Amino acid sequence: MYTAAQPEDRTVSQPELFRRFPSLSIPYRALATIPTPVDHFEALGSRMGIDLWVKRDDQSGALYGGNKLRKLEFLLADALEKGLEHVWTVGAIGSHHALATALWARKLGLEPSVLHFPQPLTPHVQKNIKAIATTRANLTLADHRNDLPAEVFKVKLREWLSSGRDFYYIPGGGSSPLGTVGYVNAALELAAQCEAEAIPIPDVIYVAAGTCGTLVGLTLGLKIAGLATKVIGVRVVDKVICNKPLCAYLGHQVSDLLYEAGMRNVPRLSNKDYHLTGDYFGGAYGVPTAPGEAAIANAKTYGLNLEGTYTGKAFSALEAQASDWQSKTVMYWHTLSGADLTDVLEQFTPEMLPPEYREFLEPV
Ligand SMILES: *Cc1c(COP(=O)(O)O)cnc(C)c1O
Repeated sequence: MYTAAQPEDRTVSQPELFRRFPSLSIPYRALATIPTPVDHFEALGSRMGIDLWVKRDDQSGALYGGNKLRKLEFLLADALEKGLEHVWTVGAIGSHHALATALWARKLGLEPSVLHFPQPLTPHVQKNIKAIATTRANLTLADHRNDLPAEVFKVKLREWLSSGRDFYYIPGGGSSPLGTVGYVNAALELAAQCEAEAIPIPDVIYVAAGTCGTLVGLTLGLKIAGLATKVIGVRVVDKVICNKPLCAYLGHQVSDLLYEAGMRNVPRLSNKDYHLTGDYFGGAYGVPTAPGEAAIANAKTYGLNLEGTYTGKAFSALEAQASDWQSKTVMYWHTLSGADLTDVLEQFTPEMLPPEYREFLEPV
């Protein structure tokens, strides 16, 4: 369970979830560097006629940050509490979630395994493949995303038969109800920052939506904080994976979890409380879009680093819809890790990868 940070540990401050609800009983391990900053992007915003703020979850961790780390603070704590030494997850070959899980699991002395499926190759994806290889995670490659359920079952079975060891399973994107609590905490953190640092309360927040844990946690957390901010999830995956009924379902599970952990008056949200746009998806996961690539180039000149699968598309939605929010306070929630992987990548050698992965290293 949660234990307060030691005073000498200056990188760790008390998470807002536990400051507000001190008696909550939820596994938590302080891993992230929080609160992450909220930066005013005045010049970029004024070009779009909006008051633009950025929540810097790109700076959530020096080892590896982004949005997945906020979920892992809860998930890896749960694995440790359960005494499980092996964590297991799934993702596309360039998955930030798989990479974050492997790096942080190793940091905590846990053994990571990942079941991968292919996605379009880009230099960014290749970098993530190399980085995860250096963690010596057990890597398995499925032919296609659709094979995942059967493959997950097979790997589980093999594991049980071979060692009798039980392992901690983390669903794709870390979006279990417990992982999603990481973004309830993040929303409460933002609310506290607005109050303490005189940051205007955003009228709207734009965030990339894949497995929806980030969107659901933020939406629920802002409701708990009593803020009327609208959160718009920019869908970057197929509609079968990311849609309002699924958001509502996950949201209910999170509400149940919080209630059982001791929170009273937990809001229950329905389909209509979640906002999603599919207009910037471009039809396939991981395939860059022209507006997304333009958004990446534009943001870069203002010091904001985006990529093509999630954040470029999310930012292109904000740019395209800025005309709806003239003179309003608009927040872009930056979910991509900004950690410098140079040292990690220097350790990489191709032998660290299973043979079936080597084709992914060809120049693109
Ligand atoms: C995973 C990811 C997202 C989407 O988060 P979900 O909680 O899966 O919706 C957004 N941005 C980046 C950079 C990610 O890696």
